[in-house]
Amino acid sequence: MLKVKTPVAKGRCLLARYRLFFWGEEDMKFSDDSANAASYLRQALPLMMKYKLPPTPLNYALWYTYVSKKNALLNKALDDAIERHGTCPVEVSEELFMEYVSDVDETKEQDMLAFQTEMSDVVDGLSSSLVKTSEDSDVCVKALQLGVESVLSKNLDPKLKDDLHSMQDNADALSDSNEMFKASMLSAQEEIGALKAKLEESRELAIKDALTGLYNRRHFDSSYDDMTTLNHDGDVSLIMMDVDNFKSFNDTYGHVMGDQILKFIGRFLKRECDKNVVPFRLGGEEFAMLCPTTNLQAAHNMAELLRSKLAKTQLKHQKTGVDLPRLTASFGVAQKRADDVLTDIVERADEAMYKAKGSGRNQVIIEH
Ligand code: GH3
Ligand code: MG
Ligand code: MG
Repeated sequence: MLKVKTPVAKGRCLLARYRLFFWGEEDMKFSDDSANAASYLRQALPLMMKYKLPPTPLNYALWYTYVSKKNALLNKALDDAIERHGTCPVEVSEELFMEYVSDVDETKEQDMLAFQTEMSDVVDGLSSSLVKTSEDSDVCVKALQLGVESVLSKNLDPKLKDDLHSMQDNADALSDSNEMFKASMLSAQEEIGALKAKLEESRELAIKDALTGLYNRRHFDSSYDDMTTLNHDGDVSLIMMDVDNFKSFNDTYGHVMGDQILKFIGRFLKRECDKNVVPFRLGGEEFAMLCPTTNLQAAHNMAELLRSKLAKTQLKHQKTGVDLPRLTASFGVAQKRADDVLTDIVERADEAMYKAKGSGRNQVIIEH
């Protein structure tokens, strides 16, 4: 008699696909040999089903690590969560994953970003694999049902007919469980989408300054590397900018008003800088503009335009409408020299900026 593939066998097919996408065939994330990895996955899946956990990459990684018994603390934390909730709630899974599995030090932002990008790629691959698996199994089951029906319509030996009827029942049951499986895959896909959006959001948060919405110092380093790699023969210039006498502004009007000014400067730089120029808040009242395909003269002109526009802007007290004192800034400009690393060009632009401070502020000075 023909053997119908059971839902469990189908599940194993899906498992193989997850394994392919999440761990990779050759480059296994947890450097286990294939036999071990397959055995861990075979143990992880029934546990995830038992606790009704969606088959997300995160859950696979968590339960794979659990069955591999590599981290006693993780196993204890998962056992505790199961005992308390009967399953492992999403927030707990995410926390445990970050703490015990992701294997990155959260303080190492670069590791974190690389990890998030990697996760995001995995999630993309996984989503398309889910759709393909679901379509494939639909086609198989429908073909089986049609085949059995067509054979049953013929004049057959009653014993054979009985066998075919039982096969038909199996095919119908398989079709039902396939529908259920599809529904659970759809909800897993939704969860994957949400996870991806969260990862992208946290990646964005990690490289942006919360007050001004400009890119932060962390992103400054990688942007310079990207810019000089992409544009290795072209000109790259740097404008450093520091708000003048900001301490006395804070002392007079308070820190909250000071923050409003910094926010305004963020908007001002986004609006006034040329399209290809990237503004950053390096910290406090210090800003920088990375200017690709811009030589020293062009960067000087741009800084001069920013300086004069800022000095001409009349800001008013939001509540009282009273004029605030004119806001000015000092600028230093440098152009990348061959083999300059970021600290070299920053040093020269900074030196020029301090000269601008020393020469009375509200000025642009270029490197010598
Ligand atoms: P200079 O013209 O020489 O640059 O003088 P300055 O007063 O701007 O420079 P100083 O380094 O003496 O003081 C910088 C001030 O910037 C001190 C601090 O109160 C203020 N500051 C730094 N970060 C923030 C912030 O996030 N919000 C607010 N409101 N103030 C900040
Ligand atoms: Mg200052
Ligand atoms: Mg300063």
